[in-house]
Amino acid sequence: MEPRDTLGRPLRDLRVSVTDRCNFRCRYCMPREVFGRDYEFLAREMLLAFEEIARIVRVAVGLGVRKVRLTGGEPTLRHGLPDLIAMLAGIPGVEDLTMTTNGSLLARDAAAFAAAGLRRVTVSLDSLDDAVFQRMNDAGVPVSRILDGIAAAAATGLGPIKVNTVVKRGVNDSGVVDLAAHFRGTGHIVRFIEYMDVGHSNGWRLDDVVPAAEIVAAIARRFPLDPIAPNYPGEVANRFRYRDGSGEIGVIASVTQPFCGGCTRARLSAEGTLYTCLFATGGHDLRALLRDGASDDELAAVLAGVWTARTDRYSEIRSAATAGWQKVEMSYIGG
Ligand code: SAM
Ligand code: SF4
Ligand code: SF4
Repeated sequence: MEPRDTLGRPLRDLRVSVTDRCNFRCRYCMPREVFGRDYEFLAREMLLAFEEIARIVRVAVGLGVRKVRLTGGEPTLRHGLPDLIAMLAGIPGVEDLTMTTNGSLLARDAAAFAAAGLRRVTVSLDSLDDAVFQRMNDAGVPVSRILDGIAAAAATGLGPIKVNTVVKRGVNDSGVVDLAAHFRGTGHIVRFIEYMDVGHSNGWRLDDVVPAAEIVAAIARRFPLDPIAPNYPGEVANRFRYRDGSGEIGVIASVTQPFCGGCTRARLSAEGTLYTCLFATGGHDLRALLRDGASDDELAAVLAGVWTARTDRYSEIRSAATAGWQKVEMSYIGG
């Protein structure tokens, strides 16, 4: 029996964070003041082993999961990642196996990922302007490195690529139309994401959010757009097609148009804690269960219990009352 949560939502997607480390220090995610030299990342033995991840995925597929996305931190930093990809690709019932990456190591790794069975990749890229991009990633990584990574991924069959762009007012909003123009006609799809109040280290303010409607309007002024239907129920991006047939863009309006009603995803942190919402204040420790010798049936019962009890709809009830909550960081929980 596939569990439904208290709002009738099934469990369909699992985002698996394979590391809490990253080679970028994006200001909206892992600002250097917080994630500096002294920051203690998880020790190796704290991370789930590949066999442990595969076991959880197998059990989750039995409960309804169809899509698995590898994320982090920066997933490409995890050693031996193609081995994990191959294990997950071999699980019957995993219909879609993808990864979200900052793209910095894709030129090196894309072929190995594709050969191991990865289907698609989403690459984050916030600007085409080197000065703006480097200010945002705070790690001195140039735009060309990400564009090379996107090209390598497309060349190995991991395309069409989704390009994720987080838009922050006064930081990269003036480059939104350039990004759309660059990827127009390539088959790749840029998805503009409203800056969210994840975790508590990015100093989020509502004023920093550029509403999706404003982003769409800016692009449509230069390239006329028409809205199109979602690919499947519960798709988080609102889709728009260029009227001249040169492709599409998406906007993810988590702040201004929350979509909790269709939210079918759970997140597994790198150390094996299961979260049922990106904004969760706590999760469920599956690693302890695994390492205490729980059977697959016991694991399935716990997962089903956690999902059945789920009430999350944070974005819909986001309000002043949330001030002071100890939310979990996105780099830890998996974006
Ligand atoms: N390191 C990989 C990357 O950057 O693609 C994967 C992990 S990252 C946490 C996943 C996605 O979350 C990225 O596209 C990133 O831009 C996005 N993200 C991080 N912090 C965010 C925030 N505060 N608001 C909106 N999106 C955010
Ligand atoms: Fe790293 Fe991705 Fe977070 Fe940027 S958004 S700091 S690349 S985990
Ligand atoms: Fe899903 Fe939580 Fe985001 Fe709502 S706020 S869409 S429940 S992850």
